[in-house]
Amino acid sequence: MKTLSLLTALLLACLVAPAWGAVPAREGTKTGPADEKKPAAHVALEPGQADTLAEETTAPAASSKARAWTHPAKEFRGIWFPGRDLLVSTESLVQKLDALVKANFNAVLPVAYFRGYVVYPDSKYLPQLPDARGGDPLRFFIDEAHKRGLQVHVWLEYGFYAYHTPDATKTPSKGPWLDAHPELQSVSSKGDRYIHNPAWGDFYSMCPSNPQCHELIANIAAEILERYPVEGINLDRIRYAGENFCYCDYCKEHFRKDTGMELVEFAKGSAGEKKFLEWKRQQLVKAVETIRKRVKSVRPDVVLTSYVVPPDEKNNKAQPWDLWAKHRLLDAIAVSMYGRNIVPDAEKAVEILGENKDILLAAISCEVPSNLYLDNVEKARRYAPLGHITWYAGQVDDDLQGLMSGPYAKPALNPFARDLETSSPKKNSSE
Ligand SMILES: [Zn+2]
Repeated sequence: MKTLSLLTALLLACLVAPAWGAVPAREGTKTGPADEKKPAAHVALEPGQADTLAEETTAPAASSKARAWTHPAKEFRGIWFPGRDLLVSTESLVQKLDALVKANFNAVLPVAYFRGYVVYPDSKYLPQLPDARGGDPLRFFIDEAHKRGLQVHVWLEYGFYAYHTPDATKTPSKGPWLDAHPELQSVSSKGDRYIHNPAWGDFYSMCPSNPQCHELIANIAAEILERYPVEGINLDRIRYAGENFCYCDYCKEHFRKDTGMELVEFAKGSAGEKKFLEWKRQQLVKAVETIRKRVKSVRPDVVLTSYVVPPDEKNNKAQPWDLWAKHRLLDAIAVSMYGRNIVPDAEKAVEILGENKDILLAAISCEVPSNLYLDNVEKARRYAPLGHITWYAGQVDDDLQGLMSGPYAKPALNPFARDLETSSPKKNSSE
């Protein structure tokens, strides 16, 4: 019997191997235009910039041949839909959702807030994205996803970022929110009022410390939950723009009030620098407390999650995802692990989260060669049994066959489906 199963396994491995080999490699693929995000692991990059994927060649292609896929009965299998994948023809969208269901994904994360706009009409807080006017792409997306049994977790991509423009020196606008509330603009220690990224242009941030900005995100999340029957809210960019942010008037005044110290440019490694980092982390704990309270008051059953920066960037952005986990402010935390091999980031994430590692989701990228992406799905299971989210829908087509014959060969129940009407797409036959 034993010999027979071994032979079967070998035979199967030989049969499926050519299919993986046929998948076009995406070595050196870059992430897309400036409205998109997701820096590669280990580098402090701005949204959309990913220039070091090719450096992390720790997983040789040969190791991907002999694989043993585990098939968890329950696992979150989500995928992000940025603006360029949401605002497509209804036919393309429906085709994409069909393909994802067929490949046993069980959740989708469509963007609802980016570049300073919301994609849905008639918001009380922000104007609708000009490209989406005249329709409600979010409504259509949610209806179609639910028809197919996919959970919908609405992604608030921009978080405390307020606007993007290719060249701020040529564009007077700072986006609708900061044009109306210039006092909420985040400022660096040097007085920079936007974040210049040579590859992608200029980004504006609102002050992540100011409760008015916390309220904006909480209001948008609540408005979505009041209008749309979604299962979750997925936060993003609940963080500072960089370590030399924020030095706005609000931050100066409140840092002084809270610590008795003047907010100045602190020397590396100084007590002042540590104090400022800890103060910023506390402001972002308050931010998520505000958002959570609001979200749960509208819909107690809603699942609140966040995408967060990789472990090595956590302090640069003062993003206290360790504290969010400790205080259980989020139902799950999707830690960025976008490299070719997720293990180094996954290990650090587990260590940082400690006893709260049960809420870890792995955020993995399919913008690496397909065999590495499939391996990363399997590796993610060792560190984040709750599940993982793939970045992103626009790049996954050439991986679907590999998923279906590999790590997603069997459907999995959505771990967040327990109290919700929407269950996972297909019943897991192994349960
Ligand atoms: Zn500030």
